Amino acid sequence: MLLARDGHEVVLLDRAHFPSDTISTHWIVRPGIELLEGWGLLDRVVATGCPPIDRVRVSFGTTVIDGMPSTRGGEPATTYAPRRTVLDEILLDAAIAAGVRVHTGIGIRDVLTEEDGRVTGVTGQDETGASVEFEADLVIGADGRNSTVARAVGAGFVADRGALAATLYGYWAGLPADGAEVRVGEGLGSSRWPTNDGLVVLALTVPRQALLGSRAGVAEVYRQVLASMPELASELAGAELSGRVHGAANLRNFYRQSHGPGWVLVGDAAHHKDPIGSRGISDAFADAEGVVRAYTSARSGRVPLERALERHRALRAAATAATFDFICRQAALTPVDEETMRLMRAVAADPAATGQLVSVFAGSARIEDFFAPANLDRILAGAAATSR
Ligand SMILES: Cc1cc2nc3c(=O)[nH]c(=O)nc-3n(C[C@H](O)[C@H](O)[C@H](O)COP(=O)(O)OP(=O)(O)OC[C@H]3O[C@@H](n4cnc5c(N)ncnc54)[C@H](O)[C@@H]3O)c2cc1C
Repeated sequence: MLLARDGHEVVLLDRAHFPSDTISTHWIVRPGIELLEGWGLLDRVVATGCPPIDRVRVSFGTTVIDGMPSTRGGEPATTYAPRRTVLDEILLDAAIAAGVRVHTGIGIRDVLTEEDGRVTGVTGQDETGASVEFEADLVIGADGRNSTVARAVGAGFVADRGALAATLYGYWAGLPADGAEVRVGEGLGSSRWPTNDGLVVLALTVPRQALLGSRAGVAEVYRQVLASMPELASELAGAELSGRVHGAANLRNFYRQSHGPGWVLVGDAAHHKDPIGSRGISDAFADAEGVVRAYTSARSGRVPLERALERHRALRAAATAATFDFICRQAALTPVDEETMRLMRAVAADPAATGQLVSVFAGSARIEDFFAPANLDRILAGAAATSR
């Protein structure tokens, strides 16, 4: 969509047909919401009736941090969690309106290359089994964490923390959700937020072994884990599961080599982290915008494409490093240590710190600013002064 709006000729190939319910719990945190707004698409998301999320509640055992996230300018940092069937349709319609030629039902199998290794297009198959071939001066692999384009060009991992956790989720009718709620438990996390059609998505982050090592199906593991959470029992008693339970355990945390002659990877294909941080969609949007900026500046002759893409890669690495690290620590599901609990109790007792931390979860404040030593000292000193 962005490339076409910039006047470039774009062909979009996807093996899926849309609307497609991609596996995702789809909370779009603040940077993603601001990009949607900038692209003129947020109104369309809101018009689907997807409820706004204005409040974030994070629980560490009995310590609850509950507040209204805000932007740097002090405005409410409203976010949304539209179903992927809804979001992807809006994005696809906007791409078509911008002039993108869309072909669905086409699975990419490989890339076309010249003798010097430069990528010049892709090959694939349509649903009749017929081979297809498309040439391009830039192949953009926006094909997710198990990217075929990455494999075809031999893009290796430049950082790899492995798969740390598994996620299970389902949609509930009649489950209360006043904003987003995240619970950090012993070796287990849960989160929920409202989405389209009056439903609430309730996700569980569990050790991978809980899913991979069980002979029970995804739905049964989900029910068993929920049954082990007495804090949810009374709310779930009045709620009903709608549709099937989804699960994913192959959630590797990595950065890949993300560009080379004639190709670039975008979104999860380039950089993937556990969904526990709800960053994937926002990061994929930001990545798309960065790649388009690089391509457009190269086409205007200001800078060679390789250099523009390398600059974008370096900016993305710098912008996402602290969050990647934070997410990997969360996804390891190690018990929360006493030092962190002391900090969380101090945050819960301090309205300014509460605002800051819930804004980190909503993506409107930076994790590295929250964990800056001077900020932590201020929060802990405030708590010490109050307890004297
Ligand atoms: C369980 C779970 C929960 C999540 N929850 C959240 C959340 O709450 N918030 C959030 O921001 N992120 C969340 N994410 C992450 C988020 O879904 C991804 O980061 C985001 O979808 C990445 O977008 P993308 O365009 O890079 O890849 P995708 O959305 O995966 O899109 C890839 C596209 O490529 C197509 N494709 C793949 N291979 C081929 C091929 N060979 N040929 C043709 N087409 C192909 C697919 O059909 C698909 O349409 C979650 C992920 C999981 C697994």
